[in-house]
Amino acid sequence: MQHDINRPKSRSDANSRPELITPTAPIAVASHGGRAKCLQRLVRMDLPVPRTVALSFDTVHGIASGQMPDMTALLEPFGPQPLLCVRPSSEDPDWGGPGAVLNVGMNDALFVDLCDRIGQDAATAIYIRFVQGYSINVARLDPDMFDGLILEGREGLHQVLSAYEEETEEAFPQDPAVQLAGVLRSMSRAWEGTTARLLRQAKGAPADAGLGLIVQEMAYGLGKGECGSGVIQLVSSSTGRPKITGRYLSQSQGRDALRKDGGSIYLARDPRGPSLEDLAPEAFAELIDYTRQMRIRLREEMQTEFTIENGQVHVLDGVRIRRTPRAAVRIAVALANDGVIPPAEAILRVEPRAVTEMLHRQVDPEARTEVITRGIAASPGAAAGKIVFSSAAAQTAASRDESCILIRRETTPEDIRGMHASVAVLTERGGITSHAAVIARGIGLPCVVGASDLRVNLKRKTVTMADGRVLKEGDEITVDGTNGSVILGSAPLHEAALDEAFQQLMAWADQFRDIGVRANADTPADAEIARRFDAQGIGLCRTEHMFFDPGRLTVMREMIFAAQADDRKAALEQLLPMQRADFVELFRIMQGKPVCIRLLDPPLHEFLPTDRDGIRSLAEALDRPLSDVTRRIEEMAEHNPMLGLRGVRLGITMPEIYDMQARAIFEAVLEASRDGAQVVPEIMIPLVSAKREVELVKTRVEAMAALVRSASGQSFDFRLGVMVETPRAALRAGEIAPHTAFLSFGTNDLTQMTYGLSRDDAGRFMKTYVQQGVYPEDPFHILDSDGVGELLQIGANRGREARKDLVLSICGEHGGNPESIAFCRQAGFDYVSCSPYRVPVARLAAAQLAV
Ligand code: PEP
Ligand code: MG
Repeated sequence: MQHDINRPKSRSDANSRPELITPTAPIAVASHGGRAKCLQRLVRMDLPVPRTVALSFDTVHGIASGQMPDMTALLEPFGPQPLLCVRPSSEDPDWGGPGAVLNVGMNDALFVDLCDRIGQDAATAIYIRFVQGYSINVARLDPDMFDGLILEGREGLHQVLSAYEEETEEAFPQDPAVQLAGVLRSMSRAWEGTTARLLRQAKGAPADAGLGLIVQEMAYGLGKGECGSGVIQLVSSSTGRPKITGRYLSQSQGRDALRKDGGSIYLARDPRGPSLEDLAPEAFAELIDYTRQMRIRLREEMQTEFTIENGQVHVLDGVRIRRTPRAAVRIAVALANDGVIPPAEAILRVEPRAVTEMLHRQVDPEARTEVITRGIAASPGAAAGKIVFSSAAAQTAASRDESCILIRRETTPEDIRGMHASVAVLTERGGITSHAAVIARGIGLPCVVGASDLRVNLKRKTVTMADGRVLKEGDEITVDGTNGSVILGSAPLHEAALDEAFQQLMAWADQFRDIGVRANADTPADAEIARRFDAQGIGLCRTEHMFFDPGRLTVMREMIFAAQADDRKAALEQLLPMQRADFVELFRIMQGKPVCIRLLDPPLHEFLPTDRDGIRSLAEALDRPLSDVTRRIEEMAEHNPMLGLRGVRLGITMPEIYDMQARAIFEAVLEASRDGAQVVPEIMIPLVSAKREVELVKTRVEAMAALVRSASGQSFDFRLGVMVETPRAALRAGEIAPHTAFLSFGTNDLTQMTYGLSRDDAGRFMKTYVQQGVYPEDPFHILDSDGVGELLQIGANRGREARKDLVLSICGEHGGNPESIAFCRQAGFDYVSCSPYRVPVARLAAAQLAV
């Protein structure tokens, strides 16, 4: 017999034999892909799944390199005149895969048969569709070849078959084995192509990810009686609440019903139009029943893909429904509440970072928007408003009750009031730990930083976009701090979703987690948020923010300008009651939970004005000649302020400042404890690099405690701790630990100092560094577990060796990241502290590590 070159070569490898999906067939996700495994489960449930054969990754890989399985055996389960559909089955559906090919097996003989069974129109439509699909996907012909053809009726069929013959100079293959072999070959090769591989690797697939293929008997979806196809699910993908949704299209196949212009109808009865429930109530009820069964047996909220053939339902597939973060939470909690999964599993099913989105407003994902630039997503949430370019303008807008968005090149402490008055902040420069980013996260303000293709002109009050268009003060934009985009105009927003499902998930998380979660909170507003999100205390209260209030700034500046210690003391006396009131409020809000207060940290010149108007009004306020004020400001300037006179160095050189703060803390403890829970404050010394610094500050703080105790006749406790922000403090933790109750790792400065990389300037080149693989990630964003992490580990080990009960924590911006939490937990830390809005993320991430 002459060898038929179209007939594929056989491959007789027993391990990769195509398997008819039966309840007991050896099918696994790792060898046949997720779809094959899911179909087997549906078969086990006895759902009406059409006959299906699964080809393993090995088989499909073999097909791509020319080893075709025995086609006769493959086709055998489908009978003499099969009509088939081939679909991909990868390990993870998100990795994509070649599109499904329908109606394989269609030929002249089956056409005649189908004309009888389902009518000529339906049979013709199927044949035409297959010839088109085969020509494009298998024969790789130009899709344009069908342009101008009728594509309907017998004449249409004749035309497409002739077009195929003309292009290939061969008759359209009639042998189902040849057709199927062609389809399998083209799908397997599509998977192995370079572009497909790179695309899926970008989604996290391993380089050698396999593809399985599913060959399934077609349910026609066309023909006599009620025929059609569609999808159905029992909850909403955007809210997760019960709602029967989906699409159905009569006289259709595959995913026709999902096409935008497909004219599909509702599933459940709906006043807006016809529904499947009206057309085929029994089929509709069956579908609901099957989807419910799937939810329980597959322990997941599923979408059912189905075909109806003359009123009879066929289940083609079950797919985990797509979901927004808020739907993910609701679905997981509902499954656990219904006893389908245990709470521990519900915890694992929600991506911690996705929780962030729920805590804030979001841009409606369905809305059509024009993104004008992208920067670094520095603080999540979205807000729309009119743009302003100064704090003063922001405050004016707020006083008129207008939502405004503050745009700056970068922000400084002077902008804090403007930030409070704005609904969002956008900066041209800066990275994830820049001033704007840190403050915005603290106060829950949407923020995008480092939008470097914008040009901000503060004088003209304009911002120029990359394409040359100019926005001026008062124009509206929307800042989306969740994904870093800036949108022209006012985009429609979704509200935050702190519903009962969210609270339930968090309550479960707290039952499992074994590392504490506190919040970084500087103001009463921050503390309220921290408490609302059930933080176990405040892990870092940066006191400098308290002095930027307009009423205090002048006194603060008087203190800075004081020539003598006595003058400084006099100014500090004025600040004392204000500072004490701040602490009383924080203690009251936190209701006896620990509050860790950091003594003043930034260089004092940060409190001084930099522009001429500001300097002039300062001279007026201090009643000093302008030249004096200017000279003093110049004297205080530093070449490298981040490494200059700041942190504990202030406490050593101007001890009156820390004295005042310690006194304010202790007096506040007495006041707050009088009518509330007993407060035990924690006092933290920043930027330590030497043991002696700790000894000196500790002596003065203890002396102040003794003074307040004897003046008040009351006793109280406190804990003194050290911030580890310099590499030296980490290395010398062994000799620091005996003097301190706790070490809190300030990984913002520690990262800055370990890399020798300015946290305020790194944003300018970080993108290039990450793109070129110099750093795997922005180390200010994701903790550098190799370098900075090694310092953390050294500091923790040496500290604990010297003092067994030493409390260890992290309070840099990394504290809320799941990766850093895993690292800290492993290193034996007691708690992490992060921005209030990241507290729920941290609680969930910590629980996931412990379940
Ligand atoms: C740090 O350096 O990590 C820290 C928490 O302090 P700040 O960000 O205020 O410098
Ligand atoms: Mg710091």
